[in-house]
Amino acid sequence: MKEGLNPRPGNDDAHGAAMRTGNFALAAHGYKPEVTTDVSPILSKKAFLFDFDGTVWMGGTIIPGVVEAIQELRASGKQPIYLTNNSSKSRSEYFARLQQLGLCDDPKEIVMSTDTVTSYLNDNKMHQAYIMGTPAMREMCAETGITHQEDSAKISVVVIGFDKTSTAEKLTKVARLVHAGKPYIVAHPDPFCPSDEGPIVDCGAYYACIKTTTGKEAQAILGKPSISMIEEVEKRFPFKRSEMVVLGDRLYTDVALGLNSGVDSVLVLTGENTLADAALSSERPTWILNSVADLKAPQA
Ligand SMILES: [Mg+2]
Repeated sequence: MKEGLNPRPGNDDAHGAAMRTGNFALAAHGYKPEVTTDVSPILSKKAFLFDFDGTVWMGGTIIPGVVEAIQELRASGKQPIYLTNNSSKSRSEYFARLQQLGLCDDPKEIVMSTDTVTSYLNDNKMHQAYIMGTPAMREMCAETGITHQEDSAKISVVVIGFDKTSTAEKLTKVARLVHAGKPYIVAHPDPFCPSDEGPIVDCGAYYACIKTTTGKEAQAILGKPSISMIEEVEKRFPFKRSEMVVLGDRLYTDVALGLNSGVDSVLVLTGENTLADAALSSERPTWILNSVADLKAPQA
C-alpha cells in the first residue's frame, strides 16, 4: 500500500488518511478539527510529554521555535519529558543530542519504548530473550538484566524492535522461534520511521511480516500508544495523569496514547498528520497546534 509508505502520506488523499487511522466512516460524524488559538488550558499542565520526530525535529532539522518554546516551559517551572518509540537508538544517543540543544540535563526525562520492553520482560521474569534489535537496544536490555540469547533451548521470549541491522536471516530465525511456540512481543507498532530520504521499514512492519508468516499474534505490543509509556513516566515522576499532556504529530501513536491513558493530547501539524487526517480519525486530540512553537509567549 503506497499510502503507508509515504512519510507525509495523504495530505490530499482521504483514502490514505482512512487507511492510517483505521476509520472508514469518512467524516460522516461532522467533526471539524481546528487549530487551537487559546493555549492557556495547555499551559496549565505541569508535565509536557513530547514526541521527537515531526514534533521537536524532522530528520536532521530542528522545527523552528520549538527549542525556545520548550526552554521557556522549563523556565516557568514545567517538566519536559520526551517519549520516543524509536527502539533502534540508545538513551545516551538521544541525551547527547538533547543536551547539545539545551533541552535536557537528565537522561531520566527520556522515556523510550525500549523501557517498556525491559519493564515487561522483568515483570514477567523473561530474562533470556532473542532480541531482534540493534546493538544499542541489546545493550539497554542488558543494563536491566535481559540477556540476548541465541540458543533456542534457553530463549524464553522473542523481542521485535526497530532493527536497522535486520536481515532475512534474522527474520527467519524469529519466525522459526515463534512457529516453534516461543511467545513474542513488539517494542512499538510504527509501520515506518520517517527520514530525510523517505520511509525506513520499522517495527510494526516486521511484526506484520512475522504475524503473516506464523499466523500468531504478539503477546504484547508496547511503546506508544500502549499505556505502558505513561506507566514508565509515572515510575519516574510524581505527576497525575490530569497534570500531563502528550504532544505529537501522529494521531495513531501520540494522540491515541493520550486517549488510551486518560491524558490530554495536542496534535501538532509539523509532522505526519494534517487537519484533514484529524477530520477523518476517530482519535481526536484535545487540542491542535500548528507547532509546539505556538506555546511560546507572544513577543512584546
Ligand atoms: Mg512523531
